[in-house]
Amino acid sequence: MAKVQKLTDNFGRQISYLRLAITDRCNFRCQYCMPAQGAEIVARKELLTYKEMYRIVRVLSELGVDKVRLTGGEPFVRKDFINFLESLAFNDKLKSINLTSNGVLVGQHIAKLETLGIKNINLSIDSLNREKFNKITRRQSFDVVYDTLQKLQKSRINLKLNVVVIPGVNTDEITDFINLTKNQDISVRFIEEMPFNGKGQRKTDKVWNSTVILDHIKSSFQDIEQLKHTKSSTSNNYKVKDYKGSFGVIPDFTRTICHDCNRIRITSTGLFKNCLFDGGVFNVRDFIRSGASDTDLKKLFIETIRKKPKNGFVAEAARDNFVSESMSTIGG
Ligand code: SAM
Repeated sequence: MAKVQKLTDNFGRQISYLRLAITDRCNFRCQYCMPAQGAEIVARKELLTYKEMYRIVRVLSELGVDKVRLTGGEPFVRKDFINFLESLAFNDKLKSINLTSNGVLVGQHIAKLETLGIKNINLSIDSLNREKFNKITRRQSFDVVYDTLQKLQKSRINLKLNVVVIPGVNTDEITDFINLTKNQDISVRFIEEMPFNGKGQRKTDKVWNSTVILDHIKSSFQDIEQLKHTKSSTSNNYKVKDYKGSFGVIPDFTRTICHDCNRIRITSTGLFKNCLFDGGVFNVRDFIRSGASDTDLKKLFIETIRKKPKNGFVAEAARDNFVSESMSTIGG
């Protein structure tokens, strides 16, 4: 049997995790992600087709990628997303297919997602207060999202809550989110706000980085235990002693866990990113549409990944523009 050619970069990091954006469209307009009128969306024909996405995942899985996260935009707003998931689930080289969603359109599909073996869903919920949540998302969907949260908790799917810490907006709720973990086996992850919002770096009175977030939690809860770091985890994880659930802090903007990174990204228009902070390395969609064979694709992936930048700061410094694109166009 032919030896599987692994995707390893010049720093010895092995790439096994793809984040694929299903679409750039979203049914929310989160304040920290895009302007009120929404991010500029591309023409439909510029989006990768499901067939192209399927092929990209298959080729990468033949090179050792065994974990895929489908994100966006909001993956569930794209027509036939469930059918795509169904076809992807046939790829037995994938150990896990995970989703990131705002939850609005998820509720009705939970049984199907369980059947398909979807392992993990990261549900974005930045406030437990209806009014505040609706203000942040610029939509009126708190009740449906909270209902999805409760349904997912009862399902076989592993649930993580994504909370972007928005200075001066939801920082007063950090302890409320931790309290959720007291009697429920739930994982809450606090994400540093980044300038991926359509405008760029926001000025705030206080910087809420992962250290500040953790110190804030420690000042309210006495016995915090650090959990063992699983390789390539995106978060540093903790629990309050005797609480059922756990919490994590994601240093996505301070970028302290790049040394362990196993991820690549492909945007909904096929832009390949070695790092969240790079400006995109090549367009897989154009390469496929110009007639590239699987061998061509593999060669390109192997060569490009070898040059993955050491960390997010190096990646950002090499860009020819400022970080300001909306996260919905990248895939979070
Ligand atoms: N629509 C889905 C959702 O809401 O989860 C998936 C896409 S969304 C871009 C993925 C994740 O990125 C969400 O958890 C979201 O909160 C996060 N995100 C978006 N913009 C961000 C920003 N500027 N800084 C930090 N996280 C951000």
